[in-house]
Amino acid sequence: MTLVMKFGGTSVGSSEAIQRTSEIVCDTQRDWSQLVVVVSAMSGVTDLLHEGAATAAAGNATAYREVANNLRRRHFKIISDLLPSSPEGQQLTAELDKFVERYESLCKAVLVLGELTPRALDAMTSIGERMSIRLLAAILRHQGHSAQAIDATELIVTDDSYQNAVPDLEKTKASTEARLRPLLDEGVVAVVTGFVGANEQGITTTLGRGGSDYSAAILGQALEALEVWIWTDVDGVMTADPRLVPEARTINTLSYREVAELAFYGAKVLHPKTIRPVIENDIPLRIKNTFNPQGAGTRIIQNSIQRNGKIKAVTAIRNLSLINVEGKGMLGVPGIAARTFGAVADSKVSVLLISQASSEQSICFAVPTGAADSVIASLEGEFSSELIRRDIDRIVAKENVAIVTVVGAGMQGTPGISGRLFSALGDQRVNIIAIAQGSSECSISMVVEEDDTAEAEKAIHALIVS
Ligand code: ADP
Ligand code: ASP
Ligand code: MG
Repeated sequence: MTLVMKFGGTSVGSSEAIQRTSEIVCDTQRDWSQLVVVVSAMSGVTDLLHEGAATAAAGNATAYREVANNLRRRHFKIISDLLPSSPEGQQLTAELDKFVERYESLCKAVLVLGELTPRALDAMTSIGERMSIRLLAAILRHQGHSAQAIDATELIVTDDSYQNAVPDLEKTKASTEARLRPLLDEGVVAVVTGFVGANEQGITTTLGRGGSDYSAAILGQALEALEVWIWTDVDGVMTADPRLVPEARTINTLSYREVAELAFYGAKVLHPKTIRPVIENDIPLRIKNTFNPQGAGTRIIQNSIQRNGKIKAVTAIRNLSLINVEGKGMLGVPGIAARTFGAVADSKVSVLLISQASSEQSICFAVPTGAADSVIASLEGEFSSELIRRDIDRIVAKENVAIVTVVGAGMQGTPGISGRLFSALGDQRVNIIAIAQGSSECSISMVVEEDDTAEAEKAIHALIVS
């Protein structure tokens, strides 16, 4: 019976939080014979590591030293709180200090070169998780449990796409079975770095920001775990981001499809890539609150109960641009859409939403604002002759837009949902710029002005709780 549990940054962000996390691990161990605990860096640490690296690349020789001292302070405080004047505490202090020294020397190298490569950045940012697993494992041992910290560089085999590495399932399965199973068989709790992997040459890679959830799902799949639990700082997946909509409520059950849509369209509570490994193996997923472990949390399963006509949740992504390719000469010409999205793919940008209006002969799609210039340049290259001939009139970006998405499999086949949504937004004077509905009818996405996002989320949320 294998369970994989992942604890996010806030769950290891302070002495109190780590204490709670270790209690949860101890309690859970009573019911599960094999336990893998995936851990993020302490909250804010990955950002700090990034910041120090970037300032070093920009020629600042002092900022990264401040970051290093900050790292020491935060980690050593936990050691002095939870492992006071113990030999394990001293040993751990020395071990963590080596990681900080390594970070400083990498920053020094970046400073000298004046260049920060994606590969170097992965080596640097992985240090946050390497430190947090050692902390948690030492605390568990101190409390009498058998626990071992393991770098996922030994487990998750990826390609070379630094900062967004893609795991190889077969190789990951083989190395995870070989490395973890004997420990698990002996009843050792394996405390594993989230976010981190390594390519076949053993060079460190990372899975993308927020990727520790994905690490847990990958290990769950590799070990054929019975369940995967994600422990975070809220009571599960909620009807909206509770930071933006205080009335948000916890959702008891969601289907994989529903949560995949929510995660893709901005609900930070789960990394969007987490779903595929668990869905492929039909592994139930739970989201729970480290600070309220008694709460039921959210269960994610194949098919959730469908309440007809019900919208379950609303989410939003900000900071987007809507790119419009327009021209009378596009009408009925085959291949324009394929060439448009081919050009977007060439600029390595993924599209979040597409909408086409044939009457106006235009294709529009949303991309992150930071990517808009390169996407437009790529499209202008692809359609240079059409632009000269005026078959395509213009390629423009509308900035400062957001996508607001409503999710709920119960909306399927229910007439009038869109009408209710649009009138709720109309009542708040929120203008809808574009709309897209997945063919599954599990989600409807609307593009709005960024300034209208909060109003739109609140207006839609009122429909959910009514
Ligand atoms: P962790 O560090 O545990 O991975 P994250 O900060 O990545 O935690 O994700 C949890 C946060 O996601 C919550 O604190 C909450 O503000 C945010 N969030 C956004 N949308 C939702 C939602 N629909 N349900 C729950 N939390 C959400
Ligand atoms: N520590 C990493 C990040 O902040 C991964 C994670 O927390 O999931 O992006
Ligand atoms: Mg997260």
